Amino acid sequence: MSSVDLRVNTERLRADIDALAQIGRQENQGIYRMAFSDADMAGRDWLRQRIEDSELTFFQDGAANLHARLNWDKNVPSVIAGSHMDTVPGAGHLDGALGVVCALEALRVLKESGVALQRPLEAVSFSDEEGRFGGMFGSQSVAGLVTPEYLHAACDLDGISLMEAMAQQGLDAHAALHAQRKPSSIYAYVELHIEQGPVLDRKGLSIGVVDAITGLFKWEIRLSGSANHAGTTPMDMRADAFQGLAEFAVQIDRVLAEYGSPHSTATIGRVELKPGAANVIPGEAVFSLDVRDTDSQILEVLADAFRRTLSAIARRHGLMFDFSVLSDIAPVQCDMSVVSAIDAAVNTLQLPATHLNSGAAHDAQMIAGIAPTGMIFVPSKEGRSHSAAEWTAWDDIEAGANTLLHTLRQLAT
Ligand SMILES: [Zn+2]
Repeated sequence: MSSVDLRVNTERLRADIDALAQIGRQENQGIYRMAFSDADMAGRDWLRQRIEDSELTFFQDGAANLHARLNWDKNVPSVIAGSHMDTVPGAGHLDGALGVVCALEALRVLKESGVALQRPLEAVSFSDEEGRFGGMFGSQSVAGLVTPEYLHAACDLDGISLMEAMAQQGLDAHAALHAQRKPSSIYAYVELHIEQGPVLDRKGLSIGVVDAITGLFKWEIRLSGSANHAGTTPMDMRADAFQGLAEFAVQIDRVLAEYGSPHSTATIGRVELKPGAANVIPGEAVFSLDVRDTDSQILEVLADAFRRTLSAIARRHGLMFDFSVLSDIAPVQCDMSVVSAIDAAVNTLQLPATHLNSGAAHDAQMIAGIAPTGMIFVPSKEGRSHSAAEWTAWDDIEAGANTLLHTLRQLAT
């Protein structure tokens, strides 16, 4: 068989996706495989078994990331394909899992085909991508971004610490500090993922070749005025925090039009008014602001513009304002050599494809800090994700898996 004719084993791939989808599933509510839960551990046991059944080398690093290795040689930089198997509560069966299972399938096919490879290959499942304990724990560990402070502070919404949750499963969180990989040990990183947006589905395309992953900043903003009687306080003697918030919300479109790019987005997704009674002027408005773009300079300019806008509005309404930065993630440009390898795979397979950006964060964002990185998207029906309604047609899954397979073959030879 010529290497151009290589294809994944569709039946085996489908059986694996279906088997993993049963682990942590709750009737009619989707999948609950949150990081280091019993269901997550069951998923890990399943993957380890599949790796061993395939006679690939199993390896678990300090952050409990699971690796399948083909032709491992620690002196030769490897080509890695990966994603995550943990889920949000009530998740679909493809977010993360698809990338891990397709990576494993690609390694199995390359092993069976006997194609001569010059570089070792790894299929990796990263720990806690979805954020039970903050998110991207596994890939951040590999990228050397996890600190002892992070390990001690990381907690889930029920107050269970990362250290405790890992210890309960027989894992030592401190070992994550030793999971870091040298940039020289990775030749390239490729992640196959569902798009989680509507673009490919609307355009009827099977493959998205990702050019950039958006960065974002997330603020919690507090506007403070004075709570007072809704009946006795004349309109011109108020410091109404909600009026300030409302005016700010209206200004979002103008700020984006003036300072953003066509890719910029800004969202107020959570609002709390205090004291929160119908007959009391809100003395305090606390709200989130999530701003995204693929260009770090534009993000900086937008941060400045939103700060100035808040300050002007606060002055006009007699309010004070302050904000705290909840997250600040730099955008990532995908590496040209990896993008070209994906383009070549799409050409070989003659698949309908387009280039696009990723609006969601992925493990690829962390690994891009230490290795040339690229991403392959397959369509999400109606753009739905983080829900049991998540769906991708089998044809598109097969197209994505074959694109990953050919991309890996090219990068490894
Ligand atoms: Zn994901």
